[in-house]
Amino acid sequence: MMNKEMTYPIKGFNPHTFIDWEGKIASVIYLPGCNFKCPFCHSSALIREPESLTTVDYEYIKRFFREKRGWINGVVIGGGEPTLYEDLPALLADIKSEGLLTKLDTNGTNPAVLKRLIDEELLDYVAMDIKAPLDTRMYSNITASDADVAAIKQSIDLLMSSGIDYEFRTTVVPCFLQRKDILSIAQTIKGAERYVLQQFSPKDTMEESMGEVKPYSADEIKQFAQMASEFVKNCFARGI
Ligand code: SF4
Repeated sequence: MMNKEMTYPIKGFNPHTFIDWEGKIASVIYLPGCNFKCPFCHSSALIREPESLTTVDYEYIKRFFREKRGWINGVVIGGGEPTLYEDLPALLADIKSEGLLTKLDTNGTNPAVLKRLIDEELLDYVAMDIKAPLDTRMYSNITASDADVAAIKQSIDLLMSSGIDYEFRTTVVPCFLQRKDILSIAQTIKGAERYVLQQFSPKDTMEESMGEVKPYSADEIKQFAQMASEFVKNCFARGI
C-alpha cells in the first residue's frame, strides 16, 4: 500500500488528457511544492497553498487505471516539481506495474534523481523546462529563486545522452526573454531531439503583475522557433 508511506499527498488528478503527452491518452498526477517560484507559473495553489487543495487517494487513482486498462496509454507526473517527492521512484514503479507508460515534467534542478529514474528504467518520456539561458543571474531572476545552473546543465546533458524520449521546453515570457535568449538556449542544447517554445499566458499567474504582460504574437514565436530549429532536430511552438 504505497500511499501509506507517501511523503507528499497527491494534490490533483486529471483522469484523461490528450494534450499533456503528445500522441497519447494520458492521466496526470499533480504533486505539490516547487523549489522555483516563477512569477508566470499557473500552479500557484499547488506551490503556495497545497493544503487548500483536496488530497486524492492513490488507491482511487489505481482503481481508475484498472477500470480504464487498455484505454489510457500513460501517466504524466507533473507539479510543482515532482523530483522533490521522495517517493517518486516508488510511485513510478507502481504505475509501471499497472502496464502504463510514464512521463515526467521537471524543471531539471535535480539531476541526481533524474539519473536514478532513468537508470532504473522508470521513465518513458521527460519534458524538461529550460527557463532561460544558463546564466545564474538571469535564471534566478526568472524563477525568483536561487537557481543552480550547473544542475540544469547536468540534467540537459543527462537527457541528451540517455537514449530515452525527451523534450526541452521554454515558456517565452516577453518581459524576461528576448530573441537572443532563445538563441542562447538553442545553442546550449545543440543537437537535441526536440525543443518546444510555449506561448506565455497572462491568465492566473503566480504574480498578479504578470497579467499585464502582453504575450509575443504567434508570428514572433514562429520566428523564434525557426531560428532555434537551426540548432536542434525538431523545434516547434505550442499554444499559439
Ligand atoms: S518550475 Fe514550474 S511549477 Fe515550479 S514555479 Fe516554475 S512554472 Fe511553477
